[in-house]
Amino acid sequence: MEERLQKVLAHAGVASRRACEELILAGKVKVDGKPVTELGVKVDPQKNMIEVSGVMISGAEKKKYLLLYKPVGYLSTVHDPRKRRTIMDLISEVPERVYPVGRLDYDTSGLLILTNDGALTHCLIHPSHEVRKTYRTLVKGVPLGRSLGQLAAGIMLEDGKTAPSEIKLKKIENGNALLDISIHEGKKRQVRRMFEAIGHPVLKLKRIAFGPLKLDKMKPGEWRYLTNQEVAALK
Ligand code: URA
Repeated sequence: MEERLQKVLAHAGVASRRACEELILAGKVKVDGKPVTELGVKVDPQKNMIEVSGVMISGAEKKKYLLLYKPVGYLSTVHDPRKRRTIMDLISEVPERVYPVGRLDYDTSGLLILTNDGALTHCLIHPSHEVRKTYRTLVKGVPLGRSLGQLAAGIMLEDGKTAPSEIKLKKIENGNALLDISIHEGKKRQVRRMFEAIGHPVLKLKRIAFGPLKLDKMKPGEWRYLTNQEVAALK
């Protein structure tokens, strides 16, 4: 059934109807690959392919959900103008156009979800949904309990104070500490900046859990489709 574009976007959970109108006017929305900047346009979410800022919101395409173990040395973007390796090189056999849910740094490995379900992507990366992400982190030296307490309570970074986090010291290896840190936010290079702030720079960073999903026995570079139960648990 055809409906106004801004209504379809709002129903898909992109933003409020008013904010969706602004996205359209700002040229961020494409229907069947073409930008739409007028508010009157009607679309059928079952037939038309609707994209917001490059993320697919709906369309005839079946929803796909993948879990990738991103290795170090890959960008978590769809395309790199400098032609570096991207996660798309690892899932080239997947026929659907899927997009990463959030980002992992080039030098971070671990669990990354990819999907063409734009509404779910929006939900999962929005700070108000507070999805818990756990990172296994090797840091230089061994932080004092007091410093870890500061990180757990929230620490001031240049773009504001972090929300409380949970930290577990796993072991000490060659004078460096291996820790698991769980955060709910997704500020740029957040975990690295948090440990830098207490004087213990990160040597290795791997995301081992995202909400209910875990890496389990996968190897770097491997991917699999999520089960229906896993998708339901994310929603
Ligand atoms: N925090 C970081 O510092 N880097 C990541 O890739 C993810 C979280």
